[in-house]
Amino acid sequence: MFEDKTLVCVECGEEFIFSAGDQEFYAERGFQNEPKRCKACRDARKNASRGEREWFEATCDECGGIAKVPFKPREDRPVYCSECFAKKQAAAAADTVADAAEEAVEEAAE
Ligand SMILES: [Zn+2]
Ligand SMILES: [Zn+2]
Repeated sequence: MFEDKTLVCVECGEEFIFSAGDQEFYAERGFQNEPKRCKACRDARKNASRGEREWFEATCDECGGIAKVPFKPREDRPVYCSECFAKKQAAAAADTVADAAEEAVEEAAE
């Protein structure tokens, strides 16, 4: 069984929780290393690695507000403003999967 663990982020020094669920997930995939960074720092690194981008304005498919997106909106794909996008992101548990996989790739590269 796993228990929530408190880890310290190497980036900002803040404590963050490596949850039992995440530990189980890591173990299942055979990831040997614990995450080194808190979610905020991981997200910041992701954004930084994307670099400067051109932003496009479109209409949010969800609320009809202005959505700024880092890609040219396509007719056949819905566009969401940051608020609606965040809501959708929160609903997607797959985010954890992507983060863990990315972390593992990073570990291997170091
Ligand atoms: Zn951090
Ligand atoms: Zn919206």
